[in-house]
Amino acid sequence: MITLALSKGRIFDETLPLLAAAGIEVTEDPETSRKLILPTSQPGVRVVLVRASDVPTYVEYGGADLGVTGKDVLIEHGGAGLYQPLDLRIARCHMAVAAPAGFDYARAVRQGSRITVATKYTAIAREFFADKGVHVDLIKLYGSMELAPLTGLADAIVDLVSTGKTLKANHLVEVEHVMDISARLVVNQAALKLKTDGIRRIIDAFAAAVPQAESV
Ligand code: ATP
Ligand code: MG
Repeated sequence: MITLALSKGRIFDETLPLLAAAGIEVTEDPETSRKLILPTSQPGVRVVLVRASDVPTYVEYGGADLGVTGKDVLIEHGGAGLYQPLDLRIARCHMAVAAPAGFDYARAVRQGSRITVATKYTAIAREFFADKGVHVDLIKLYGSMELAPLTGLADAIVDLVSTGKTLKANHLVEVEHVMDISARLVVNQAALKLKTDGIRRIIDAFAAAVPQAESV
């Protein structure tokens, strides 16, 4: 049996076409089913539904043989013990620093002021600001980072941005592009050795079906 860990929502939805390319159809809809283990059209392949931030952990410890997870989640997890063969180019967005229009971020950086930054992505934020030589106090949050600058909890946030609508609705302006984000395939290395053929078949089918870069 090969077990694939996915999270509900965009990761699940955007992985379906890749699975289809591998001849694997998920026969149940996770939005209506209460099941956490979903069978597929291939008796030897099943999908487990876990929280987005738990996908690397399931794969690391062999609760799943492979999984699909955002680069953001992967960096925060650390990626230890995970084979990362493919950028799937799905669930694309970017990580950004955003601040209220009234906060002069550039000036604070120039003057070497300490900036208080709220984020769920503390590892990414710590490394980004350390590289820039910006002094920050990080405040770890688990949800709705946009609220932090509006309530005086923080000067700025580090968060995922896709359309920018959420930032705009909360009167925040993007002040730094931190990194592009997309989802990756991660594989348990022991599982790859034990179930090489089955897992290789999935990796190869995914690789062939990855959305191509748009031409420039
Ligand atoms: P949880 O609900 O457990 O806190 P989450 O909010 O990170 O997890 P999703 O919103 O499903 O879960 O996001 C899953 C992944 O999709 C993220 O880790 C990120 O890589 C990517 N992602 C997040 N937001 C967007 C977005 N607006 N557009 C495109 N991709 C996104
Ligand atoms: Mg989310």
